Amino acid sequence: MIGLTGGIGSGKTTVAHFIEECGFPVYYSDDRAKTIVNDNESLKVRIKELLGEKAYDENGMYDRKFVANKVFNNNELLQSLNGIIHPAVRIDFEEWVSQQTKYLVFKETALLFELKLNLQCYKSLLVTAQDNLRIKRVMDRDNKTYREVQAIMERQMPEKDKIRIADYIIYNDTNLDDLKEQTERVIFEIE
Ligand code: ATP
Repeated sequence: MIGLTGGIGSGKTTVAHFIEECGFPVYYSDDRAKTIVNDNESLKVRIKELLGEKAYDENGMYDRKFVANKVFNNNELLQSLNGIIHPAVRIDFEEWVSQQTKYLVFKETALLFELKLNLQCYKSLLVTAQDNLRIKRVMDRDNKTYREVQAIMERQMPEKDKIRIADYIIYNDTNLDDLKEQTERVIFEIE
């Protein structure tokens, strides 16, 4: 299992898609977490117990905005929430991985290093790019302001620390063709 990570707008999801094109399966942890909080009934009960009924809207869907406001600046509450969600994602991943037949699988996780999940991986693969490029790409993608993206980046682990820890690094500073070529090269090296 290879851990695939990168900060906001680094291009990790784009790399994940290239990896799938090369024939290797990718587990999208953050996407799966978003599904699990709505699908897993016992998880829903525990989240409501922690954050209140309003954690889910009138249609029974996880209210991301409410939860974000509730845990903002409350690290203890955030830790408790993560303590409920992360083990559920781990179980979901284990089920997924048990169904895979390829000798290499990838797990895309934004917080791979922050949560020390790289320790459970055979190797880690970091996608990185210059700050300005990442900000511009996210502004184009999400219709966010420069300052909004910058604020998210500032809350993430510094790139220099990630670069120090990662086993493989893809520098996404040019175009998509180059990104694809680097992805193929890294897979070849890992294989
Ligand atoms: P996030 O953590 O915010 O979800 P991410 O790391 O998954 O971001 P992507 O969604 O893959 O990043 O890329 C961010 C945006 O930049 C996307 O719209 C993607 O199409 C675009 N992009 C990525 N790499 C390049 C590139 N080399 N050239 C042009 N656009 C790119």
